[in-house]
Amino acid sequence: MEILHVGAECYPVAKVGGLADVIGSLPKYQNNKNNNVSVAIPCYQTVFRLENNFECIHWGKLKLGQFNFPYSVLKETTDKLGFELYLIEIPELFDRPNVYSYRDDIERFLSFQIAVLDWISGRSSIPDIIHCHDHHTGLIPFMKNYCCKYEKLKNVAAIITIHNGLYQGIFTFNKLYYLPEFDLIHIKELEWGNCINSLASAIKCSDEITTVSTTYLNEINYSDNGLETLFQRVRNKSRGILNGIDMDVWDPSRDTMLEMNYSVTDFSEGKQKNKEHLCSLFKMNPDKPLFSFIGRLYNEKGADLLAKTISSALTTYKNEINFLILGYGDIEIENQLKQLLEVYKENYHVHIGYNEELAHKTYAGSDFLLIPSRIEPCGLNQMYAMRYGTIPIVRRTGGLRDTIIDFEDNGNGICHDQASAEDICDAIQRAVNLYSDKDAIGQIRIKGMNTDHSWEHVSQEYIELYNLIIGKRHEN
Ligand code: ADP
Repeated sequence: MEILHVGAECYPVAKVGGLADVIGSLPKYQNNKNNNVSVAIPCYQTVFRLENNFECIHWGKLKLGQFNFPYSVLKETTDKLGFELYLIEIPELFDRPNVYSYRDDIERFLSFQIAVLDWISGRSSIPDIIHCHDHHTGLIPFMKNYCCKYEKLKNVAAIITIHNGLYQGIFTFNKLYYLPEFDLIHIKELEWGNCINSLASAIKCSDEITTVSTTYLNEINYSDNGLETLFQRVRNKSRGILNGIDMDVWDPSRDTMLEMNYSVTDFSEGKQKNKEHLCSLFKMNPDKPLFSFIGRLYNEKGADLLAKTISSALTTYKNEINFLILGYGDIEIENQLKQLLEVYKENYHVHIGYNEELAHKTYAGSDFLLIPSRIEPCGLNQMYAMRYGTIPIVRRTGGLRDTIIDFEDNGNGICHDQASAEDICDAIQRAVNLYSDKDAIGQIRIKGMNTDHSWEHVSQEYIELYNLIIGKRHEN
């Protein structure tokens, strides 16, 4: 089977969050003698692009309304990622360092999608499956089904995986002329709330919809994302498939970014050495329990609760615990966290920014990882934390609910229910008690490290789904 994954991010080429980790690893686990798997993402000016060799295998011109853009398709020459990687180069729109947050993101990602369809519709062998990820690729199923130009792709099966339903790629019908010509009878397939909504269109036009955990699938039927009734309508073609993790990239026994490697059979010394190293970077005392947070600093992640939680906990525990925050995002939250530095000099540090190496060191060197998310479609941080013997403290929501059970129920982490500083502090209190019981905490670390979140069987679940969709298409 020929499978093409299309998305906005792919680790290690371009990463903002978990989407990159998934698109950079799932294809690797699907690629075998039965399946030929490739990935297409935009060509940003990232370090990976600059430091690796690419061959231009196709070029063309795309039209976005009255605008014309040249594009080229660059193939990574060594296949070192474990799948074929194609970068879609549209110089005027993607020749920039960042993945998102430009004023013309709608034009950028629409052009990307048009370029992908132009390229594959001209190929002699077309994919059996186009696997779209999030709203940046949400108009592909519509354009493939209804744009006359892409007639050849009409019968190609398409699925959309929703990694984050909050972001939907919404724009007004004034920009309808950006899309290649299609029969207006289908215009409703683009619309939600009187706008063109890329994610809603993908939900309507894809053969199947997946979310990245089962609980998140249940939540989006009722949560505040504006698409609730649409999700309810398509329930019979939706399913939750929990993400896996790349066991090669995230392996404490081989991770070259760590101070000392360790495994489940001998983790005590390794974890201690990594903790000492991490604490030395931020001048913190490694004898105290270390609570960390890694992630985008937004309300959906519960990051707005961190400053209050940290001051309250440091007051309660009279500075007998340490906190480390790694992230960036909302300026107000960044400022709150920076201001705390003036008050708590020895027990707290925040690193504003994106730093892959520091993230690995933090998973390895921390005792507990705080994940107080309001919304968490899957969450990979808790899986990485467990793999590195660090105990996740999570709010019971989405994929966190599906992966973490409280240790008092014989589980692998610490859970709380409310997105509030009070609830997080209660969880911290239980963590501090646990920390003083070396045997008990060791058992939970072992449980976490032994948990199997590899893609091995999950990737097979996707293959079965692809086969099901292709089978259905053949029946019709
Ligand atoms: P989301 O995709 O919603 O941001 P996930 O838990 O699915 O959250 O994935 C987050 C990924 O991004 C993890 O690989 C995590 O280590 C990484 N990450 C998040 N913020 C940072 C940061 N500031 N520096 C380095 N890695 C980060």
